Amino acid sequence: MKILKFGGSSLASAERFSAVAEIVEKSLATDRVAVVVSAMAGITDALVAIGREAASGRDYHARLEDLRARHHETASELLNADAAAEVATAIDRVLDDLGRLLHGVSLVGECTPRTADSVLSCGERLSARLLAAALCAGNTQAEYCDARTLIVSDRSFGNARVDMESTGARVRGRFAATGPTPIITGFIAADPNGETTTLGRGGSDYTAAIIGAALGADCVEIWTDVDGVMSADPRMVPGAFSLAAMSYDELMELSHFGAKVVYPPTLRPARAQAIPLVIRNTFNPSFAGTKVIEEIRGNGNLIRGISAVDEVALLRLEGDGMVGVPGIASRLFGVLARREISVILISQASSEHSICFAVEPGAVDEAQRRVDAEFELERGAGLVNDVVVETGFSIIAVVGEAMCRIPGIAGRLFSALGGSGINIRAIAQGSSELNISFVVAGSDQAAAVVAVHDAFFPPGSQPVAGGV
Ligand code: ADP
Ligand code: ASP
Ligand code: MG
Repeated sequence: MKILKFGGSSLASAERFSAVAEIVEKSLATDRVAVVVSAMAGITDALVAIGREAASGRDYHARLEDLRARHHETASELLNADAAAEVATAIDRVLDDLGRLLHGVSLVGECTPRTADSVLSCGERLSARLLAAALCAGNTQAEYCDARTLIVSDRSFGNARVDMESTGARVRGRFAATGPTPIITGFIAADPNGETTTLGRGGSDYTAAIIGAALGADCVEIWTDVDGVMSADPRMVPGAFSLAAMSYDELMELSHFGAKVVYPPTLRPARAQAIPLVIRNTFNPSFAGTKVIEEIRGNGNLIRGISAVDEVALLRLEGDGMVGVPGIASRLFGVLARREISVILISQASSEHSICFAVEPGAVDEAQRRVDAEFELERGAGLVNDVVVETGFSIIAVVGEAMCRIPGIAGRLFSALGGSGINIRAIAQGSSELNISFVVAGSDQAAAVVAVHDAFFPPGSQPVAGGV
């Protein structure tokens, strides 16, 4: 059994749906398959925008009709008239539902996280219908499958947590007997009362791993628009090359620090069941891609890859009253954890005079408020200063398991940055030595990634694509 997941970048047009259908058919020649799909390219962003538009009282109807037109056009290019008409009816049902939701949103002037999830769910519900129809048109027995009947989550709308046990039972029950190939909506789930939730942006990868783990699949293939996981984001580093293999830990670090090629939570269920993840390219289907497993042998390179998160804010708590006082860090990170504010990086100087941490821009105000409140007494007594906030930074992570065995990596890294005149604002290294991450001004991000890539993979020295 194999799970094949296709991202929005692989589902941008009728032509791309046909390419995907061909990949599914080929896999079906040798394996039992379950397919997971994202929304068509750009559709989830369009749904976010339409929800906002309705909430702000602006006219959203033109956008809604654009969505309808794009899906209808894809159906009529992809299918014969009868099949296209049948899918068009299903598309209209989803979009009429969406229209009713948006009408409600415009009346109350608010799109709550709960309603936003129902709005966002439409993208996957449409794309899965289209792919199921494309496969049936080619005489493959395929069936639309709404993940809200399979994936059970809590009610943390926008980033729901999955109940693996009940989900596993449902998935196994549903697919115990062989039947048509299911085309499952990624990204969406439902709480125990059946209310729609979503698993976080990029969450279709996670859906695929959850289903793969529940079914004990032989592998989960994540099909995207690049040749697997690359040594850096190819949009940033033209000389980036694809990696034939890497460990779950390495991919976890790279994706945590911005390599959005795989959504980080995806690694958990795959690793728990030792299911290999394979990242492949729908535009280059004969290429083997990147295999991600527990342990891999070194490939002779000092590092595996480089990733970057942009638009990061740095917050700093400092004060003379922090030196030598136990419990400050625990209070600081405790209050952030209780508010579910995710901290991307932490760095503390050994003087203990200041603790610096990075969060996403959306979390800055709340983090600042909560930390200031937590240390109100100390601030009043002049022991701790008000939290200092600076925005517009990028975090760059250099990742590789070989780093813990080889000295001199940090030296090479920082002299490359110094040589390019790039100023470093904070540095952190996990004790596993799997990663060194550092903070630079956002405007230096691209130059820093390229400088580090050149330092560890001098142009011309890296293996050709895949030959690591
Ligand atoms: P999908 O629509 O298939 O889910 P995404 O856009 O979510 O695709 O992820 C694929 C993109 O991730 C690539 O187009 C690439 O620009 C970006 N990316 C960032 N870092 C890396 C990396 N290290 N290797 C490969 N792709 C990366
Ligand atoms: N369509 C969703 C998104 O754009 C989920 C995904 O693509 O994985 O975030
Ligand atoms: Mg993605």
